[in-house]
Amino acid sequence: MKITVLGSGTSTGVPEYKCECETCQDARKFGSKNYRTRPSIHIEKDEKHLQFDLGPNFIDQIDRNEIEWIDAVVFTHCHADHVSGTNDIVMPCRKQQMDMPIYGPEQTIRILQRNFDYMFSKETFQGGGVGHLLPNIVEAPFQLHGFELIPIPVEHAAVQTYGYRIGNFGYVPDVKRLPDSSKALLQGIDLLIIDALSFNPRHPTHFSVGEALEVVGALQPKHAYFTHIMHRLDHHHFPDQCAEQDIDLPENVYLAYDGQVLELS
Ligand SMILES: [Zn+2]
Ligand SMILES: [Zn+2]
Ligand SMILES: [Zn+2]
Repeated sequence: MKITVLGSGTSTGVPEYKCECETCQDARKFGSKNYRTRPSIHIEKDEKHLQFDLGPNFIDQIDRNEIEWIDAVVFTHCHADHVSGTNDIVMPCRKQQMDMPIYGPEQTIRILQRNFDYMFSKETFQGGGVGHLLPNIVEAPFQLHGFELIPIPVEHAAVQTYGYRIGNFGYVPDVKRLPDSSKALLQGIDLLIIDALSFNPRHPTHFSVGEALEVVGALQPKHAYFTHIMHRLDHHHFPDQCAEQDIDLPENVYLAYDGQVLELS
């Protein structure tokens, strides 16, 4: 399985608008690993492609990362940084000459049906007769194009939110609390990409680095990468920043970055 990190940033992206902090200044340099678009991944196996979330950077993300095909879209939840690029799935649909199956929590599907109503109805859709969304509500583990997906219910703000386990890979981009029953669903994974917004444990809806490390410690994946990262975390100085915070950063835990490709057998 090939995993491409399309976006590793929090909802504002990095650089933050008008911020002159060291990380944001670095992020404005071409090719900086501190440049972070909104959270999303794309996975690929045996020429089958799943896209996770359609945030506001979606079309640029798939263009820049040379994503050639999308068989289905899987949503984690309905926050704007994960769904506001939904209209742009029209372009892959036109290229591929197909409608797009979408999967996600019931609340997310309902909100998409309300906000992008014209994409669900053949009568109202304008322009070429392709690009409709085919909705599927996820409530239990399911098979999709040879991938085995297990929804992982997590607590995150007041909206129904899933992480997903895909084989031996776990993707949990937005989480404040991982219930024990959900932790159990992630036991035995080799690779984890998980929310770690900043060092602040008081943030009401996202894990801090310390909270994310507790989960990494409990699950013991071979490698763990942090995503949904804000500008307080600097890609170039992250181990030093952890040391300053008296946080012991294990050697197999890293910050993800946009464009990163991870291979998993
Ligand atoms: Zn900044
Ligand atoms: Zn969210
Ligand atoms: Zn988010």
